[in-house]
Amino acid sequence: MRKYSVFAVAREALRGHTGWEKQWTSPEPRKEYDVIIIGAGGHGLGTAYYLAKEYGITNVAVIERGWLGGGNTGRNTTIIRSNYLYDESAALYNHALKLWDNLSQDMNYNVMYSPRGVMMLAHNIHDEQVFKRHIHSNRLNGVDNEWLTPEQAKDYCPPLNISKGARYPVIGAALQRKGGTARHDAVAWGYARGASARGVHIIQNCEVTGITRGPDGRVTGVETTKGSIGAKKVGVVAAGHTSVVMQMAGLKLPLVSYPLQALVSEPIKPIFPCVVMSNTVHAYISQSDKGELVIGAGTDQYASYSQTGGLHIINHTLDAICEMFPIFTRMKMMRSWGGIVDVTPDRSPIIAKTPVPGLFVNCGWGTGGFKATPGSAHVFAHTIARDEPHPINAPFTLERFRNGRLIDEAAAAAVAH
Ligand SMILES: Cc1cc2nc3c(=O)[nH]c(=O)nc-3n(C[C@H](O)[C@H](O)[C@H](O)COP(=O)(O)OP(=O)(O)OC[C@H]3O[C@@H](n4cnc5c(N)ncnc54)[C@H](O)[C@@H]3O)c2cc1C
Repeated sequence: MRKYSVFAVAREALRGHTGWEKQWTSPEPRKEYDVIIIGAGGHGLGTAYYLAKEYGITNVAVIERGWLGGGNTGRNTTIIRSNYLYDESAALYNHALKLWDNLSQDMNYNVMYSPRGVMMLAHNIHDEQVFKRHIHSNRLNGVDNEWLTPEQAKDYCPPLNISKGARYPVIGAALQRKGGTARHDAVAWGYARGASARGVHIIQNCEVTGITRGPDGRVTGVETTKGSIGAKKVGVVAAGHTSVVMQMAGLKLPLVSYPLQALVSEPIKPIFPCVVMSNTVHAYISQSDKGELVIGAGTDQYASYSQTGGLHIINHTLDAICEMFPIFTRMKMMRSWGGIVDVTPDRSPIIAKTPVPGLFVNCGWGTGGFKATPGSAHVFAHTIARDEPHPINAPFTLERFRNGRLIDEAAAAAVAH
């Protein structure tokens, strides 16, 4: 794999950019692999990358029914933070945050991680109590989070309307300064390039239609639109379609899939310095490096596999954005889209072995799994390679829905990301 550097850019500039190689190969599937990962989103590609890089397991295929990064990885609003309530979550999301710090260098691929701060607005006394509880809990876990007065919030984000007569008055905010954003496509592309260079096969436009099992019940491979492919182990990382894929192995998961929408405005000059979220009014906003305002909404109330969502949801979101930031009232919106998110009853993910030997699952990230991509992929690779969970994902089992050891992050996940 050719190293990307300023010298490589200069060299290619001098020879008309004819020397760049394809970032990943597109091989035909082998008859059998040691590990098959179903789903080439950030979590699936990252898992393959860490399997190859950290465990030397390179006879791996990532099978994707569409194009890599075309699921939620390429549809999300890229908010990164780790200010979740419980110790288990703090460990998981902070593991990811630490990996974000150095991810571009590790992969030699610029993922444009920008820790510009994530501010969560409180509009009523209940919000204030919940956020302060999170701040205390986060600090005990070494996660940065602080309480701001309305004036301090406006200092941090000048376009914010803090007037007392506002429909959604701002009575304070919780700020995680190390939170921020990253370029979602680059995360998928960087992991794909790094995995492919280590020998991993990335097989796009190939849908998994079945999971095959031997007489002892163990996984033996998958059926796909390109034929049967054998595998000693299979990892399912299919986000909104996890229930569909797991049913192929006869397993029913505690997941419900909902559409979640986002939209972007026309591009403007830099005006918005951070990420602002409001769980209460179901809206959040940041500005991309291209200048577009990136705006997200709450989930639709109806379970569905439609990647569009309902117009009334984004109308409501824009109402809220215009109330909180009157400066944007005359902005034009450029495009909107949806993704399908897989939500668990306690709003925490499942990263675990399953009752089917050789079958592993990483799902349930709901509205907020982008931020966890490196951490999730890293511990899932460990789980597959070692046949046992990493200490960080050990609590995120399937069994917790039977034995009641839930990790209830509904207040931290809420609408928001
Ligand atoms: C609008 C929106 C905004 C969001 N905003 C944020 C945010 O700001 N911050 C945050 O942290 N998270 C956010 N999220 C959530 C985040 O995007 C996801 O949790 C995360 O990207 C999931 O990554 P993944 O790799 O697991 O899934 P995906 O990227 O969805 O990858 C799963 C892949 O599996 C493939 N697949 C499915 N079935 C099959 C099959 N049968 N055969 C082969 N392949 C299959 C799919 O095509 C897909 O490419 C948002 C989500 C949406 C939709």
